[in-house]
Amino acid sequence: MTNLEGKVALVTGGTGGIGAAICLNLAKAGAKVATNYRNQEKAEAWQAAVKEQGFDIKIYQADVSDYEACEAMAAKVVSDLGPIDILVNNAGITKDGMFKKMTKDKWDAVMKINVDSLFNVTRHVVEGMSEKGWGRIINISSINGQKGQMGQTNYTTSKAAMHGFTMSLAQEVARKGVTVNTVSPGYIATEMVMAVPEDIRNKIIAGIPVNRLGTSEEIAALVGFLCSNEAGFTTGADFAMNGGQHMM
Ligand code: NDP
Repeated sequence: MTNLEGKVALVTGGTGGIGAAICLNLAKAGAKVATNYRNQEKAEAWQAAVKEQGFDIKIYQADVSDYEACEAMAAKVVSDLGPIDILVNNAGITKDGMFKKMTKDKWDAVMKINVDSLFNVTRHVVEGMSEKGWGRIINISSINGQKGQMGQTNYTTSKAAMHGFTMSLAQEVARKGVTVNTVSPGYIATEMVMAVPEDIRNKIIAGIPVNRLGTSEEIAALVGFLCSNEAGFTTGADFAMNGGQHMM
């Protein structure tokens, strides 16, 4: 298993399905982990559940679409846990609709949370990593950012944009020991996907060559590897983990 003893990790959207698995996996590897929340009640329940599993994960209120809130969050993590070594930009939303019915509100909400957040959070973290000469940034995109998806012009645009960000930033910071990668999950058995009616879910699964949904733990394991020293030669890449549903 990856050893991240002494590393400090900030994972956005840690109270969600994939984010929680990433937080726990990094904590199991020895990292000091922090995440953020918008919804206080959900955050308190989440932190209590994590504590029951034996982990102390810090959680700070911050909306990732708010630049100043992200600046304050990053500063708090640094003062409480130390300089940030690992950043996982995972928080994200969907607001689906066919393009002819797509509203400006839905378009803007997805861009602010999925794309602006990359700037808002990473901007306050990357310099510290460069100064230290070691850092790992992982951006959680989606299979739909790679292949497109009907009814998701806003979401797929935002997720494709993430990898453009990854490639450019990777080139800027490679010599400083900082790697930047994208992970593009396919359909993962999170609450959102499990809430889809069973017959529709079975149709989705029938289109996945491995014949099942992925798990959040599988995504977390890939993120864990990308955080390791062994992944130091891996940067600017987009890792598909989708059960063979889309091959590039
Ligand atoms: P969830 O909906 O379970 O979790 C999303 C997380 O992001 C929550 O913690 C949520 O917190 C947080 N979040 C959303 N908006 C904001 C915001 N403005 N500021 C701060 N936090 C915010 O999602 P998943 O775990 O399913 O997905 C995680 C990532 O993986 C997303 O980027 C998603 O696009 C991507 N992905 C997911 C797939 C899947 O099958 N589940 C497939 C491919 C990609 P709160 O509830 O407090 O708003």
